Amino acid sequence: MSDKKRKSTSAAVKEPSAKQPKLLPTKEKGWLQDRLKQQRTEKKEMKFNTKRLHFISNTEKIKHGSQGVLYWMLRDHRVQDNWALIHAQQLALEEKLPLHVCVCLFVPKSELSTLRHFSFMLKGLKEVSKECKALDIQFHLLHGSADDVLPGFVSDRDLGAVVTDFSPLREPIQWLESVKKTLPKDIPLIQVDAHNVVPCWVASPKQEYAARTIRGKITKLLPDYLTDFPLVEKHTYTAAKTPKPVDWEEALASLQIDQSVGEPEWAKPGTKGGVAMLESFIDERLKLFATQRNDPNAAALSQLSPWIRFGQLSAQRVALQVQRSGNSAGAAVSSFVEELVVRRELTDNFCFYNKKYDSVEGAYEWAQKTLKDHAKDKREYLYTRKQLEKARTHDKLWNASQHQMITEGKMHGFLRMYWAKKILEWTSSPEEALSIALYLNDRYSLDGQDPNGFVGCMWSICGIHDQGWKEREIFGKIRYMNYKGCQRKFDVARFERKYCPKNL
Ligand SMILES: Cc1cc2nc3c(=O)[nH]c(=O)nc-3n(C[C@H](O)[C@H](O)[C@H](O)COP(=O)(O)OP(=O)(O)OC[C@H]3O[C@@H](n4cnc5c(N)ncnc54)[C@H](O)[C@@H]3O)c2cc1C
Repeated sequence: MSDKKRKSTSAAVKEPSAKQPKLLPTKEKGWLQDRLKQQRTEKKEMKFNTKRLHFISNTEKIKHGSQGVLYWMLRDHRVQDNWALIHAQQLALEEKLPLHVCVCLFVPKSELSTLRHFSFMLKGLKEVSKECKALDIQFHLLHGSADDVLPGFVSDRDLGAVVTDFSPLREPIQWLESVKKTLPKDIPLIQVDAHNVVPCWVASPKQEYAARTIRGKITKLLPDYLTDFPLVEKHTYTAAKTPKPVDWEEALASLQIDQSVGEPEWAKPGTKGGVAMLESFIDERLKLFATQRNDPNAAALSQLSPWIRFGQLSAQRVALQVQRSGNSAGAAVSSFVEELVVRRELTDNFCFYNKKYDSVEGAYEWAQKTLKDHAKDKREYLYTRKQLEKARTHDKLWNASQHQMITEGKMHGFLRMYWAKKILEWTSSPEEALSIALYLNDRYSLDGQDPNGFVGCMWSICGIHDQGWKEREIFGKIRYMNYKGCQRKFDVARFERKYCPKNL
């Protein structure tokens, strides 16, 4: 977000045309579903690159005489285009064993546990379970956190290996460590990075400073990693014990979640919904991406972040399809791949290597110092979390953005930066600003609670992956954004008319 290149593209933003392309996918099953099926069948012999995995356990050999292989699905909730499931199936086939998939359903006691997120997740998992059934893969929904329920499940079913996917976030890492401790020593625990195109630990062994320092490393590796996927096929070996059928409505109804943050209409949960959104992006919006992506009034973005966040869509699949379909939109394809691959994988890098990824203490020294130097600067406006949450500020653009996030579960990428920077300006300390920004983003954005969100807020408030700018009040050397700057870039009044209710 800090590059000069990015600045120049935003300056090139054009006035949106009166007739805008539709945002909602027009049909559920269009050409892309069929094309993906065909491509996967043609490429079914693709090899698994073993650099995508590492062993968490000391043992690497599957337990002799066991009854199956388990994929513990943690972050990547999809069947096809999933390197962790591909590897688990290959292991099971080599050993002539049944293949199991499990998800541990755990609801943290938190203001961030909402119907919006859990409904999207469970509806996506319902689709996963159906697909698994059709492929003779046993799907299990376990109730509880993985450290509590997974080891018992493995021993009850006498499973011989556990494969899981990768998340750089604190809680999944804790679950993984505690599963490692409680799993019998003769059962390998294997982690596969199924989320990043270039596995996080291959892209870089350390925290990268900015997009410019990771871009070359990732780009150099793309020929090896941005490949097609082998097909997850009908499994040859079936388990003697069938899984407990899941009542998905009942599962959702039983959760202790905040029902007041509801499901947005525009995002159809599940892989099929994600593929339909990708198709509509390729057909209708991709051509505008290079020139209009910083205009919140234009429908130029992919809208894919919720499906990528929940692993219902593979970013690698998205990149491949956009490259294949975007011959007539060269500049758009490269700027899209920059966001989808370089910027996104930089956020996993940050959270993986910086344990303070959600704290001002995780910022660079120059940024911490400048924020401290200006901590006592007078704030013209001071708002509480409640006032911000209710979009009760003096700034109509900010209120409109916040209102859209509350009602629709999304905010345009350009406005997200403005929105978070204003929170820094209108609260009493950077620590408070960061905590409010993360709370609002993670509670209301459908794609929230993701490394992209931690880095987005840290970039805006603490200068992560950015550079120092001209020093000013409150912000110090952190990049500043203001209302007038937005007016220069897009039709602010039009956006406010659309999203700011009359009473705000
Ligand atoms: C304050 C703030 C909070 C944010 N919170 C989140 C969040 O909770 N979840 C989230 O996924 N993104 C977040 N972002 C990053 C970015 O704004 C969104 O990914 C993007 O707006 C999603 O819309 P899209 O799918 O239409 O993106 P597109 O512009 O179509 O991009 C395609 C994909 O590339 C990735 N991407 C795009 N921009 C970025 C970026 N700046 N950094 C990393 N990856 C990117 C996303 O996976 C996105 O789906 C945040 C940014 C800021 C400044």
